[in-house]
Amino acid sequence: MFDKLGRDITYLRISLTDKCNLRCRYCMPAEGVCRRSHHEMMNEDEIVTAVEAAASLGIRKVRLTGGEPLVKKNIVSICRRVAAVEGIREVCLTTNGILLPQLGTQLREAGVKRLNLSLDTLNPQKYAYITRIGKLEQFHRGLEAALEAGFEKVKINAVLIGGFNDDEIKTLANLTMMYPVDMRFIELMPIQDHDEFGEGAYVPYSRVLEQLPEAIAVPPDGGVAKLYRLPGAKGNIGLISPISAHFCGECNRIRLTADGKLKPCLHAPDEFSLKGLDFEGMKAVFEQAIRNKPAWHGDLDAVNRSRAGRNMNEIGG
Ligand code: SAM
Ligand code: SF4
Repeated sequence: MFDKLGRDITYLRISLTDKCNLRCRYCMPAEGVCRRSHHEMMNEDEIVTAVEAAASLGIRKVRLTGGEPLVKKNIVSICRRVAAVEGIREVCLTTNGILLPQLGTQLREAGVKRLNLSLDTLNPQKYAYITRIGKLEQFHRGLEAALEAGFEKVKINAVLIGGFNDDEIKTLANLTMMYPVDMRFIELMPIQDHDEFGEGAYVPYSRVLEQLPEAIAVPPDGGVAKLYRLPGAKGNIGLISPISAHFCGECNRIRLTADGKLKPCLHAPDEFSLKGLDFEGMKAVFEQAIRNKPAWHGDLDAVNRSRAGRNMNEIGG
């Protein structure tokens, strides 16, 4: 379905849960995550009905995210049912990777085609710091499980944070020399509760290219990342710039939160509730939300913070 600015909305991102087995500093608070009760959250049948309603309006790709989607007990069943919805061509998943050794093969068999993993640093102390509770070796085991499970594509996302990991750009980019993965750098976004990052933390993606002079531009793959490749690499370097060069004009996505709110824009306060509705009711709300998708997310920086009204774990990054 086209929004009122003529953008064809074909991509639905679903946050399956606010909960997470990590506590990344830019994403969620250290404590106080479970503010909503179980009956306020979308159950498995409602999630599947929402995808059916979305598919009937032209959604073709679904990304399952969170919070951490793999902490959902019924994650494999959700993936299988969403992948089977008529019209859905691709189910992808974004995860911190910690639970992939247990779940990777099952997820692949359930129909998940592509996987995005999150990793901001290759330094164990820094990983423990940024995730508050994570251990880097768990990520490495998850990456190995992802590669063994045979997903069509594995990408690794790093949030670029000035003063934290901008000295590791080369090291992170070198993962594309070692593994058949894309390494993507994403600009830090100023969301809700995190205010421990000062102005210097918000660095533009051009900082990456300055440190990778040998990187060669390659054609885009249909996504929002600008792509480059190191000579001899097995995967691409991707640069995602929601702030310094926003892609709102080509935005084809809409988001669903774990408590059933459709968000036509990640950084806008507008929300449209699906909770408790049947297929026809959900379809009508999808139409309303898509029609009302904002033109762009407005200025974002350390001063002009996101108007999302939620932390990233509650929206689905
Ligand atoms: N737990 C999963 C994970 O970490 O991959 C999925 C959910 S997480 C919210 C999805 C992505 O959002 C992660 O790659 C994370 O780094 C990114 N993210 C979270 N907060 C962000 C922020 N303030 N700015 C930019 N990216 C952010
Ligand atoms: Fe959890 Fe992902 Fe947020 Fe980190 S970025 S706290 S892993 S939801």
